[in-house]
Amino acid sequence: MPNYCVNTQETDGAHEVHDLTCSYLPAPEHRKTLGWFADCHGAVKEAKKTYSNADGCWHCCRPCHTR
Ligand SMILES: [Zn+2]
Repeated sequence: MPNYCVNTQETDGAHEVHDLTCSYLPAPEHRKTLGWFADCHGAVKEAKKTYSNADGCWHCCRPCHTR
């Protein structure tokens, strides 16, 4: 099960959620750990508790990328 994080900085109008194995992770100081989820949908849901405009990364969370 992948471990997810969310970018604490907004990029393109959204806080992107990443699998920690993604090649496009934000800098460590801009990552907020979300924890382990079966898929990106659970991770984005968790991220939305902090950032209502959270969205999946196009590279690692494409099924959750909506922007
Ligand atoms: Zn990513």
